[in-house]
Amino acid sequence: MTLMRRKPAPADVLIVGSGASGATAAKVLTEAGINVVCLERGPWIKPDEFSGDELKYVNRYFLWQDLDLKPRTKRSSAGEEAHIARFSPTPQMVGGASVHYSGWVPRPTPDDLISKSIYGDIPGASLVDWPVTYDELEPYWTKVEWEFGVCGLAGANKYEGPRSKGYPTPPYPVNGFGKKFYEGCAKMGLNAFPLPKALLTAPHKGRPASVQPGLWHEYGDPTGSKSTPLSTFIPEALATGRYDLRPESYVREITVSKDGRASGVVYQDRDGVEYHQEAKMVLLACGAIETARLMLLSKSALFPDGIANNSGLVGKNAMFHEYIGAFGLFDKELSTPTEQWTGSYVNGATYEFYKTDTNRDHILGSVTAASTVGHPINFTYPGKPLWGKPAKDADRQYFDYSMKIGAILQDIPQETNAVDLDPTVRDAWGLPVARITAKPHENDKAQAKYIADNSSELMRAAGASKVDPIYLSEFTGNCSHEMGTARMGNDPSSSVVNKWGAAHDVPNLYVLDGAVFPTSLGANPTLTIMANAWRIADRIIEDRP
Ligand SMILES: Cc1cc2nc3c(=O)[nH]c(=O)nc-3n(C[C@H](O)[C@H](O)[C@H](O)COP(=O)(O)OP(=O)(O)OC[C@H]3O[C@@H](n4cnc5c(N)ncnc54)[C@H](O)[C@@H]3O)c2cc1C
Repeated sequence: MTLMRRKPAPADVLIVGSGASGATAAKVLTEAGINVVCLERGPWIKPDEFSGDELKYVNRYFLWQDLDLKPRTKRSSAGEEAHIARFSPTPQMVGGASVHYSGWVPRPTPDDLISKSIYGDIPGASLVDWPVTYDELEPYWTKVEWEFGVCGLAGANKYEGPRSKGYPTPPYPVNGFGKKFYEGCAKMGLNAFPLPKALLTAPHKGRPASVQPGLWHEYGDPTGSKSTPLSTFIPEALATGRYDLRPESYVREITVSKDGRASGVVYQDRDGVEYHQEAKMVLLACGAIETARLMLLSKSALFPDGIANNSGLVGKNAMFHEYIGAFGLFDKELSTPTEQWTGSYVNGATYEFYKTDTNRDHILGSVTAASTVGHPINFTYPGKPLWGKPAKDADRQYFDYSMKIGAILQDIPQETNAVDLDPTVRDAWGLPVARITAKPHENDKAQAKYIADNSSELMRAAGASKVDPIYLSEFTGNCSHEMGTARMGNDPSSSVVNKWGAAHDVPNLYVLDGAVFPTSLGANPTLTIMANAWRIADRIIEDRP
């Protein structure tokens, strides 16, 4: 219930969202002497509240969105009725989704940024080149790798583009299933390398080396040794004394002044008190789905279809990186208890199914890596019995004997894959929820089949006695990677923001998150999201009066 509207002191820079993109910009701007207000809708959960309780985290969605309060809806194409779905679930909290992400942080390839120039027009797709070059982004990937804290081995991936510097800490040790992966790659003559990860294998910037807990993927990290905004850039921004971070502050509208500039936002705190926070500049960092939703919710006389939406493209060209690959079962245990479940979640990667190859029946590709199959209580394997003694026996026979080789599909952009406002479903605050319309392109299906078939062959080469490919049938948002929806480009009629993240129609409104990605890239997005947010923040600093 809205009680009243209050007006705090105006902000110099207002950032909506404190995840990977918002926290990066906050660190860079505050360290340059700029005062930042950040409005974050989620709670501020401190690392000492995290634990290894699988039921709490995975089954009771401790860090995830509550479907009853914050649903999303999904359909495959326009004309279909959308249904409520847990599509691209991302934790909404201080630090954002990266607080319990998996931490794969590889770089994209130089070709990813120029796929339109390489492949030309693809029917049914809206392929474009990035307005930013590899050379412009390279220094920022390096900054993030060093400041955020990443481990890896420079030069090990023969398909990686030029890099100006190695990694701050060496790669993690090879574990049981990692060893199998490397054996399989060697048999098939494939280049393999330690996947760069957002963890420290040695002390760095005053932080300890990681214990590499198995409680890594989908859990908060109580040790603070995983590199997340909560363990790095948020404390660094707070240390400047210029970061006013307000949790449990739900932004519902971006306001505009008569001259068409963003004047601030309207938000509600946990008690339902409504505020109008004025600001000289508004930076959106809500994740690509929520950023598009907030822009579409911000209707005014000047922008009847949503703020900065003169092109009609806000929400369109959404991309999600569906996870595909193969499961494998082995006759012998793959690991000791200290290596697999209690060890690292992912180990070993290849770009062989990613590299540009015009001889394939599809274009694009993506990073492929070996990982565990899942958490002990929620452990599942295709065809595994689900109940009673057979389920318990299968757990014993499968858990330490299985692995996955999987990839994030580099889905091609399509204008019809989109986020808009659901016409009927509302959240607990009475606002229309995001409706996702998404269907794989024929190229996505061919690419997924190629990767799943090759991952299966690699699994066999690694010694698996049973192999189960994971093909693509629909988009489920199972990677929680969100891209597109406010694409970056030079032409205001075919993009929403310019190459500096500023909206073509509203010069003091910026988008920092993956919404600006013109294509989805074949690498996990967060490293590039952070690098790009840093690049935009540097430009804001340069441009300040
Ligand atoms: C389980 C899991 C595993 C993942 N693994 C990987 C991986 O291995 N590698 C990788 O690169 N990526 C991974 N990701 C994705 C990664 O977490 C995201 O790419 C990254 O967090 C995006 O950062 P962001 O700042 O754009 O958005 P987010 O981190 O989602 O942050 C957005 C913030 O904005 C807030 N917000 C949204 N709307 C509003 C509003 N209206 N008002 C106020 N605040 C708002 C949200 O509460 C949230 O905290 C994973 C995600 C999950 C969930």
